[in-house]
Amino acid sequence: MSGSYETVIGLEVHAQLRTRTKMFCGCSTAFGAAPNTQTCPVCQGNPGSLPVINQRAIEFGIRTALALGCTVNVQNRFARKHYFYPDMPKNYQISQYEEPLAEHGTLEVTAGGAPRVIGIQRLHLEEDVGKLVHEGELATARASHVDFNRAGVPLMEIVSKPDLRSPEEAGAYLRALRAIVVYLGVCDGNMEEGSLRCDANVSIRPRGSEQLGTKVEIKNLNSFRHVQHALAYEVKRRVQVEPQRALRRLAAGDRLDPRRNFLHALDVGGRLARFPEREIGDLVATRQVAHQVPRAQLSTLVERQQQIGLQPQNAHYAASPDDASVAPAACG
Ligand SMILES: [Zn+2]
Repeated sequence: MSGSYETVIGLEVHAQLRTRTKMFCGCSTAFGAAPNTQTCPVCQGNPGSLPVINQRAIEFGIRTALALGCTVNVQNRFARKHYFYPDMPKNYQISQYEEPLAEHGTLEVTAGGAPRVIGIQRLHLEEDVGKLVHEGELATARASHVDFNRAGVPLMEIVSKPDLRSPEEAGAYLRALRAIVVYLGVCDGNMEEGSLRCDANVSIRPRGSEQLGTKVEIKNLNSFRHVQHALAYEVKRRVQVEPQRALRRLAAGDRLDPRRNFLHALDVGGRLARFPEREIGDLVATRQVAHQVPRAQLSTLVERQQQIGLQPQNAHYAASPDDASVAPAACG
């Protein structure tokens, strides 16, 4: 973006993992089955049912983490994220919060200029929710149906740092990430069926400023084109409204800084909504599982990197994963 403002974009990508069964039960993950035929007491959250971690999902998460140069946390755990929505039978989603599977990676992208290294903040695993099917348009629907077949399907969430500086760069990042997960065989990358979805956080700030502007989140983008168009639209809108916000901030002083208040509200809400998932316990087998990840497949990334659009830096990470990329187990 030219002019006095700079665009700041961060992406949260949800990739459905290509496991045969769900994240915590033995139900099939096959797409397109008759509604509510792929459910059981565990993914329905019936009293007395116990979730069991899908080891293949952990392997797929680690395989991706290594390709992105992340540090894999040996000690990581799952949490219940409580909120109500009709497509979620348990009224909570099992996810990872404070101890994700992996952190601190990078992905190099090129969009109309020199390559740039985009930081990966975290990579964690969670379960998907069900799907609502409305009779007609949502606003005027006479009825809504719920299909729980997707509830409990394993998802990998990859969160970038707010390092992307244009909608084109966000598109390039998403294309590179899709190429990696498809090549690694951990996700089919089918955006039409929702196997790869993206939430985008976008803000603008005066060029040269370190402080982030007011953030807007755009959810459930399911094509490269949608991502770029939605971001371009939002950037244009923010350029129009941000100067007015800045004037209001100056008038009201720090106490009413909308960014601060917004972050505070998120933080408080986040802490209140999450509890450790005691039925699963801590995941401490990560180092052992990490060694089971097929190295041969990772090493061929170096040879195939140009074909799949992967930058040399990431191919190198993937080809030489050693113990240094697995963090030591935390005490306690
Ligand atoms: Zn199930």
